[in-house]
Amino acid sequence: MRRIEWQAATVEQITVETPRVKSFSLRPSRWHPFRAGQHYDIRLTAPDGYQAQRSYSIASAPENQGVLDFTIELIPDGEISPFFHQVVEIGDQIEIRGPIGGPFTWSVADGGPLLLIGGGSGIVPLMSMLRHRREAAESPDRPDTALLYSSRTMADVIYRRELDEMPAPEETISIHHTLTRGAPPGWRGYSRRVDAEMIAEVADLLGSVGVAYICGPDGFVETVADLLVARGVTPESIHTERFGPSGPQA
Ligand SMILES: Cc1cc2nc3c(=O)[nH]c(=O)nc-3n(C[C@H](O)[C@H](O)[C@H](O)COP(=O)(O)OP(=O)(O)OC[C@H]3O[C@@H](n4cnc5c(N)ncnc54)[C@H](O)[C@@H]3O)c2cc1C
Repeated sequence: MRRIEWQAATVEQITVETPRVKSFSLRPSRWHPFRAGQHYDIRLTAPDGYQAQRSYSIASAPENQGVLDFTIELIPDGEISPFFHQVVEIGDQIEIRGPIGGPFTWSVADGGPLLLIGGGSGIVPLMSMLRHRREAAESPDRPDTALLYSSRTMADVIYRRELDEMPAPEETISIHHTLTRGAPPGWRGYSRRVDAEMIAEVADLLGSVGVAYICGPDGFVETVADLLVARGVTPESIHTERFGPSGPQA
């Protein structure tokens, strides 16, 4: 097995996604192919030698070679995410190590129907899967896909425009939002925490769930995985990734 070495990556672009979320395009000095869903470790070293590292999912598609996109939510009392939001600039060098992760990966060849359920920044690895699926437009294996994405408010929806543009008329993909802390007037999506009825409605559009990927805060992932199992989705076809220790849902 390849030993995963630390390497330098250069920050090429910074994109403001929402008031609390930014994306960072990093060009690693050595390119390693990856699968959608994998992550990198990012390490910071202070002048006194103190080091801290955290994991960040890859947001870009594996086809987008040469540059890795990471999307980082600001945790105000955190160590690493405030550094990214307040200190990192274009041209900076960052230490990264990856790609890492096996079970939480998907490629078009793995099939479907594909159900993706994300809470907050848990959308990031699911976005890599959706971008990969879009890149595979010519593939006859491209499965029917549904995304259920839970955000606090409309302003917190990451990649909103790109998600809005994903379901072209010929597409067998549907995108469903739920807003848990207030919806704007005229909102036609869901406006409550993910529940059994919501999952049933989204899953029914797929006919059956071949494979499901859930990502978000610990409590969110646990709740949603339980709901899927209660609906009859086999545990082996449910893949989960937990980002952090926050409350029951995004
Ligand atoms: C496999 C994997 C992939 C990840 N991918 C992403 C990603 O794509 N984007 C992203 O923004 N984060 C991602 N995370 C979370 C990330 O690794 C960090 O935990 C997060 O950025 C907080 O780090 P920090 O140093 O800023 O805060 P810390 O110093 O670690 O924590 C500060 C405080 O915030 C709490 N906290 C830590 N993490 C979270 C969280 N996620 N939500 C709420 N409270 C938290 C801690 O309990 C503590 O009280 C991922 C985690 C894993 C395990």
